[in-house]
Amino acid sequence: MEHEGNFEELGLNDWILEHLSQLGFTRPSPIQYNCIPPILEGKDCFGCSKTGSGKTAAFAVPILQKLSEDPYGIFCVVITPTRELAYQISEQFSIIGKPINIRHAVVVGGMDMLEQAMQLEKKPHVVIATPGRLADHLRSSDSTVKLNKIKFLVLDEADRLLDKMDGDFANDLDVIFETLPKDRQTLLFSATLTDTLNEVKQLSTKKPFFWQSDNTVSTVEQLDQYYVLVPEQVRDGYLVYICKDLLEKNPNHSIMLFTKTCKNCQILGMLLQNAGFECVVLHSNMKQRHRLAALSKFKSSNIRLLVATDVAARGLDIPVVQVVMNHNVPGLSKNYIHRVGRTARAGRTGMAVTLVTQFDIHRVQSIEEHINTKLKEYEVNEDEVLKI
Ligand code: ADP
Ligand code: MG
Repeated sequence: MEHEGNFEELGLNDWILEHLSQLGFTRPSPIQYNCIPPILEGKDCFGCSKTGSGKTAAFAVPILQKLSEDPYGIFCVVITPTRELAYQISEQFSIIGKPINIRHAVVVGGMDMLEQAMQLEKKPHVVIATPGRLADHLRSSDSTVKLNKIKFLVLDEADRLLDKMDGDFANDLDVIFETLPKDRQTLLFSATLTDTLNEVKQLSTKKPFFWQSDNTVSTVEQLDQYYVLVPEQVRDGYLVYICKDLLEKNPNHSIMLFTKTCKNCQILGMLLQNAGFECVVLHSNMKQRHRLAALSKFKSSNIRLLVATDVAARGLDIPVVQVVMNHNVPGLSKNYIHRVGRTARAGRTGMAVTLVTQFDIHRVQSIEEHINTKLKEYEVNEDEVLKI
């Protein structure tokens, strides 16, 4: 994923160059190489590059540099579609912004609102939020939080936030955008910006810099993609077989298994546990502290199997994930791209296995067309499946 250029060419200050090299960021990824200079120049920027290609640092690095030059008030608001992603982005900001002691607040649903209000009063440099909870703070009559002087607005996973079809964020975003100053810089990032480009364009008052990596609407090359044809009635037998097969061959692999609904997620978690697997579940019907605890066990490799809904499909960067499995075939190709993009990140290899029933064949074909890649057949020993 590296670009042949250097961080030194991008107009960055010494403190950040030194720090990036200490963090092991030896060369910028293409999106970083191309988007950091226009952001430093004050332009709005829309960046689109594949999953795992370093989009977070492409906006965090220039924002932190600007912040170090003028650390006044709440400087930047980052909005993301999910709570876990908000925490992850906040970690990246603290790591990269450590030399300048950056202060941040995470403002997401499911966590104590009063405590968040107190944090916001202290004017953190960067606020990382999900739309619903930030809008709640702004609507609240006793709130004193002011965002009318911020310099940067970032929408990570921008197409998901602005998607008219999944319009669940529209009202909250309206409340937020109304309070923001017009002379801010707006930065939008995603691996799949192109379908929503019109909605996206409305967000920028200046002529934005738009950058897209080659052939973005696709999965990464170093990802091995498989399908398994399974009769609908025995899908879960196959699932158990494949999990066993994968973990027997590679006991050190971590697997993310995606399913459609919260209920399915809960049921699959129990089923896999009964079948002898240690696993954790992550879906939006759980208490937030249980969600964070499950994710933390999985990230630290204490538990090697995570069953999740699409709440975990976007943005999460968990380097230990070698396999993504799809218990159902996503209805939209872009959701497939985001799910399988949880592995094979930052140039590493990875594998995706999708269970396909007799009813999903056309969906898989349309995904294959969209990503311009044929999935390979995963070899199954039918006798072993029957034993399960
Ligand atoms: P994206 O948002 O494009 O999916 P992330 O921003 O989550 O990707 O980055 C993926 C991984 O790559 C992260 O673990 C990040 O720390 C790492 N990374 C980002 N930029 C670099 C770089 N220039 N050199 C080395 N690693 C990097
Ligand atoms: Mg990202």
